[in-house]
Amino acid sequence: MSTETPAKPLSGRVAVVTGASSGIGEASAEHLAELGAAVAVLARRADRLDDVVARIQKAGGTALAITADVTDEAAVRAAADRVAAELGGADLLFNNAGVMLPAPVEELATDQWKHQIDLNITGLMNAIGAFTPQLVSAAGERGVADLINTSSIAAQNIFPNFAVYSATKAYVTHLSRHLRVELGPKNVRVSAIEPGIVGTELQSHVTDDGALQWLDGSKETMEWLTPQDIAETIGFIACLPPRVNLQQLTIMPTRQPS
Ligand code: NDP
Repeated sequence: MSTETPAKPLSGRVAVVTGASSGIGEASAEHLAELGAAVAVLARRADRLDDVVARIQKAGGTALAITADVTDEAAVRAAADRVAAELGGADLLFNNAGVMLPAPVEELATDQWKHQIDLNITGLMNAIGAFTPQLVSAAGERGVADLINTSSIAAQNIFPNFAVYSATKAYVTHLSRHLRVELGPKNVRVSAIEPGIVGTELQSHVTDDGALQWLDGSKETMEWLTPQDIAETIGFIACLPPRVNLQQLTIMPTRQPS
């Protein structure tokens, strides 16, 4: 029997995770590092990113904290330059930073509309713009790269008072389908993940009473997903053979109806 330790499946790969200071992004960054990838973690809260990097390094992994606001195009381009200089360029972008601010449309919560559109759409595009050249280049050299965008079950189903959030996520899913066709011939796989409810800080930003009551009530009837559940799904997608592109993946709490 061989005594050699099997190579980690993502050894040699370089992942960038946006929204890595909490929730899904934080858990995914740690999991990708466990699988062997060097990981750049990106968000606004430097102290939280430093904690993530320290944990990854303590476990023997490689990580780089980059404090940046993804709605700032120049900051995201500077982040991409750092990833190229310090880690050799990304071959996996988990494009995950986002915010959910439901409210009845008649309340005209225009600041919240703008916040969701700026982050969930423009921020997502800024990361795609900054990192796609690295993904294409890495795929050319190594035969595979991944762009994984975080959408939501809200992209498919109808949730009263979640119109703006849901529309931003429908954008993410539809964009991902198009980019898969565009980038697939260059060996860049594109996936959209569509989770149901995951217990994270996402719910703590909600101010609408009706939505808060709905979320609270849902805890009585179901066990929410955990960030680790999504992290393992991201790891699964990234570890698939290069010929396999999991285009769209909906992952729901077992008891969540829609
Ligand atoms: P969290 O609130 O825990 O995480 C959001 C992350 O985004 C944080 O790391 C936050 O860090 C970062 N972020 C927020 N604004 C910016 C910004 N301007 N620039 C850079 N980073 C930013 O929530 P989740 O982990 O749940 O959310 C991750 C993704 O999952 C989102 O896109 C969300 O829409 C999606 N999703 C979540 C579901 C859920 O039920 N939780 C279900 C379906 C989809 P910081 O504040 O430090 O910048």
